[in-house]
Amino acid sequence: MPELPEVETVRRQLAGVLVGKTFAVVERLEAGMLRDCGPEQVRDGLPGRCVEEVDRLGKFLVIRLSGGFFLTVHLGMTGQLLVGPDEDGRGEGALRPPGIQAEEDRHRRFLFVLADDDGRRLRLEFRDMRKFGRLHLTAGAPAPRLRDLGPDAWRGSWDREYLARRLRGRTAPLKAFLLDQRHLAGIGNIYADEILWWTELSPLRPSGSLSDEEIARLATEIPLRLGEGVRLLGCSLSDFVDIEGRPGTFQRWLRAYGRHGQICSRCGGVLQRALVGGRGTAYCPGCQR
Ligand SMILES: [Zn+2]
Repeated sequence: MPELPEVETVRRQLAGVLVGKTFAVVERLEAGMLRDCGPEQVRDGLPGRCVEEVDRLGKFLVIRLSGGFFLTVHLGMTGQLLVGPDEDGRGEGALRPPGIQAEEDRHRRFLFVLADDDGRRLRLEFRDMRKFGRLHLTAGAPAPRLRDLGPDAWRGSWDREYLARRLRGRTAPLKAFLLDQRHLAGIGNIYADEILWWTELSPLRPSGSLSDEEIARLATEIPLRLGEGVRLLGCSLSDFVDIEGRPGTFQRWLRAYGRHGQICSRCGGVLQRALVGGRGTAYCPGCQR
């Protein structure tokens, strides 16, 4: 599932190509993936609106449109946003990541055509094999569910004191705390395992049991590891690609996630697998306390 660094990679690229462009045509629309709006609202309300800004909170993209409208996008498990030129002028062309065959175009859920002032057109495609992705069109503010999220784990205004307050008294395992988007938004299974490996903290520790020094380490590593993910253009273990269909490179640098049964690069112990809050978790019992 795309996490904060993957969504940030897409955000930066989308901002570069979409800002200043105007939605012209809604060519394809998957009604079951819409939230806070109906298909007619998208078909009628989107054309004519200009993209003013592409923002992000946690794993959500927030596209601010002219007239006070917002398009909030969540990539779900397997969502991909791809941008390409609308060469044939109809929208239906060969826009897909390298290696993806035509028959997989059934995974194309949304297809928008945008145009600039000079009439140049480009296509924005939302592909999603498993259809857990979501698209919200709202007026006045982004999708209401964003109000339940904590500050952005990478760039949000939070600090060690905030983290200490949120951890205090909690009995949930540390891994579950990191995955809970109400505390910090953007961390998923991969980066949670990596953050905990780098902080040398066990994912099974009760959240409220951390010392001040351990909280300080955690507060440092969270933005550091997410920033590494952004710098390496995200993690592509299965489906993640950028808007031109290219994978990220963070997966080459994983220390814990998915490495159970392998040797810990810090202490030489063997990484173990545990289930924490129903999520597969890899950690080193030798050096993560
Ligand atoms: Zn170790």
